[in-house]
Amino acid sequence: MNERSSSNSQYINVQSSLAVPSEPVVAYITGDGIGSDITPVMIEVVNAACKKAYGEQRKIDWQEVYAGQKAFDLTGEWLPKDTLDAIQRAHIAIKGPLATPIGGGIRSLNVALRHQLKLNTCMRPVRYFDGVPSPLKKPESVDIVVFRENSEDIYSGIEFKAGDALCEKLISDLKTVYSVSNIHYPKQSGLGVKVISEPASKALVRRAIQFAIDQNRKKVALVHKGNIMKYTEGAFCHWGYEVVVDEFGGEKVGGFYEIENPHTQEIIQVEDIIADACFQHVLLRPESFDVIATMNLNGDYLSDALAAQVGGIGIAPGANIGDTCALFEATHGTAPKHAGKNKANPSSLILSAEMMLRHMGWTEAADYVLQGVENAINDKQLTYDFARFYEGVDPISTSAYGQAICKRM
Ligand code: NAD
Repeated sequence: MNERSSSNSQYINVQSSLAVPSEPVVAYITGDGIGSDITPVMIEVVNAACKKAYGEQRKIDWQEVYAGQKAFDLTGEWLPKDTLDAIQRAHIAIKGPLATPIGGGIRSLNVALRHQLKLNTCMRPVRYFDGVPSPLKKPESVDIVVFRENSEDIYSGIEFKAGDALCEKLISDLKTVYSVSNIHYPKQSGLGVKVISEPASKALVRRAIQFAIDQNRKKVALVHKGNIMKYTEGAFCHWGYEVVVDEFGGEKVGGFYEIENPHTQEIIQVEDIIADACFQHVLLRPESFDVIATMNLNGDYLSDALAAQVGGIGIAPGANIGDTCALFEATHGTAPKHAGKNKANPSSLILSAEMMLRHMGWTEAADYVLQGVENAINDKQLTYDFARFYEGVDPISTSAYGQAICKRM
């Protein structure tokens, strides 16, 4: 990754290189609910880290764009076109949580953002921070990055409601045209279509392997349920191995495929694992996982389950990545009952910003953010959600936690 000095051109190609000017525009969405508590703190922490790392040489030009309630109040739209255009122009954006508008004609603003910006890969790193309460005996063994396909699977929105005329017609066609005989309650069954394509599967696996190469990771697991869903999940696995062999020169050695990392000449092992076994193994021996590549639904379940293993459901960061754009985001929701109280934990958004800085190639600033968070948690400078697990630890506010991080970089 390299830096370009011109301040008004920024171009990103996530798969290969990212050229970032010294004052890049980063679009941000404050978010609903606790978004207005955590987003200013995230910006303060990132600005402090950049200043510490680069002085006045590099800094972020933050540009607020609107989505959710704030956008609706200002424009009458939940997700204005101007917002999508601004994110596309900036190529890099970060967002707080967004409430799903009820009766707004949008199933989910998050899903709409991912679809409209073609952010086909969701990336969720899961690791343990010393001092975070966890249900595991050895949570420090968890250091796994989940790559989840973002655009397909059962999330494609092709669903038919039980009893609707279209649903009944489809069931009738399935029976007569396709000889499907095992729909046991035709009049009372809803239907959903699972879409898994070769291009999207290959793009996801390609990105996961490239990440393993760039970050010197040792293993990639393709997680699927292909033993049951042969032509969707099974196909994902098959296409994944085609990427391994055709694009990365992988070779089968015993039960694995091996790829040589061109930077280090070390071996990256690729295997596939059935999803239910994967859920057992990540709990019982998490140290044997490194990078996971999987489809939308498996990835949704796995990333939250893994985050919970390290006590990090409130601090797990995330990114949605496409070919020309990346949107980093807090993975939790709007926590409406805590909104405006300056008590929510901003770590998920701050660690998403840390991923964003790394993605931009600003690794020194990213390291400062990480160091600040690690040290603050270690020193028991904790917001209410973590402090309540420790006797004698008084919770601090969202803004005080931000200051504690800045002081400890
Ligand atoms: P939630 O994540 O808002 O809340 C779940 C629990 O976690 C609550 O007890 C909440 O108080 C707590 N919590 C969440 N984030 C916290 C933080 N940063 N600090 C301290 N405690 C925190 O999930 P929900 O209640 O199911 O959803 C509320 C709204 O958020 C819904 O409208 C939902 O659609 C939306 N949502 C948005 C996103 C997103 O924008 N990525 C993700 C999930 C839910």
